[in-house]
Amino acid sequence: MITVNTKVRSEAVDITSEVEQIVRKAGVTEGICCLFVPHTTAGIFINEHDDPSVVKDVMEALDRMVPRQGPYKHAEGNSDAHIKSIMVGSSVHVPIQGGWMNLGRWQGIFLAEFDGPRTRNVQIIVRKA
Ligand code: ZN
Repeated sequence: MITVNTKVRSEAVDITSEVEQIVRKAGVTEGICCLFVPHTTAGIFINEHDDPSVVKDVMEALDRMVPRQGPYKHAEGNSDAHIKSIMVGSSVHVPIQGGWMNLGRWQGIFLAEFDGPRTRNVQIIVRKA
């Protein structure tokens, strides 16, 4: 498991290197890495981590698509975060080949925070194929 302390209400945190360390320690050469976020106002996605402005654009586009102010019924005032969590999803899976995650050249793994700052967990399961 990885724990992430997010700093602001909305941000994408690159967790690729932490996940890679867990995969390397697991010693699986051929298999799969499953990542799951047990939260209703956060998510997880894979996208470009070479240029940090890409995920900033993604998070800002989600903000434009799902504004913070409703009309919403949920009294907690964070319905936008629940909706964005569904849009992004709660799990991703990465193949492992030769002991390394077989991510694409530009891909990284991001925890997506939509109602921070909070402490978030990412559950990680590494299995042999
Ligand atoms: Zn809520």
